[in-house]
Amino acid sequence: MPITCYLLSPRGYCSGVTRAVNMANQVLKLYGSFYVTEDVIHNKVFVKQLEQQGMTKVESIDDIPDGATVLFSAHGVSPRVVDRAEKKGLTVIDATCPIVKSIQNEVKLASEQGKKIIIIGHKSHAEIVALMGCANNTKFYVVYNEIDIDLLPDFSDDEVVYFTQTTLDYSMVERIVTKLTEKFPKIKSGSKNNVCYATRERQDVVRRVAKQIDLLLVIGSSHSSNAKRLIEVALDSGVKKAILIESKDDLDVDELLNVNSMAITSAASTPEGLVQDLVVYLREKFDIVTKEFSFHDDTKR
Ligand code: SF4
Repeated sequence: MPITCYLLSPRGYCSGVTRAVNMANQVLKLYGSFYVTEDVIHNKVFVKQLEQQGMTKVESIDDIPDGATVLFSAHGVSPRVVDRAEKKGLTVIDATCPIVKSIQNEVKLASEQGKKIIIIGHKSHAEIVALMGCANNTKFYVVYNEIDIDLLPDFSDDEVVYFTQTTLDYSMVERIVTKLTEKFPKIKSGSKNNVCYATRERQDVVRRVAKQIDLLLVIGSSHSSNAKRLIEVALDSGVKKAILIESKDDLDVDELLNVNSMAITSAASTPEGLVQDLVVYLREKFDIVTKEFSFHDDTKR
């Protein structure tokens, strides 16, 4: 019996990543080289290609030579970093995703209005570090789970707004927001972009296919938040095995023993070429039949 292999759609590059990738390629064409303080996108294969073509990653803006070009990643940077780059006279190319940019502006405004700000996300993720930098006029808190919420001081009399990292599991965010609302009954969402449409769509199609598969392969980098969330969503939705691989080279073919039906998806920062390479590789090794499986819920746009 051949293995049925569903190719999920949507998968791979979201609009923000496509834009950042195009900007990085254009900057290389125009200037021949550029510097970053954060990976342009969270994909090791793509970042390695950029390094070979002229991109250099440094610790801080101060490490960039005068007169050079700096490119800010799709995740955005704190306003302080932008200031430092401009004061240093660097050529600044800002590849921050427009959705992230709009959330940054909403955080800035809420901060200027003196609202208490709660950000749901990973403290060390570049997007959250940048958001924290936008909230420096007021007190803000970062939470990721219910324990973090329990530890928050009680400021329920204040105006409180929450924002989320754009790449979280949105059903997990709903649970966190419910818990936040118990503690801060007047809390409001600070943005309509909490968990962005691209993240939701990629998670939705995994939930849809879950009952039909024994295995999900997610192609993405181990430091990609949305890649890791796809694994969690699959396991949460009843898929027995979900594996994150950087590329076909990471796949242990024994994982496909006793698999009758599987699916492949990729993170919002994964180049489509890596998916196609995997499909070719699987066809060489196994008797597989590929089928497209797509699910679009326009109400989430
Ligand atoms: S996941 Fe969403 S917010 Fe993040 S870069 Fe992609 S489109 Fe922008």
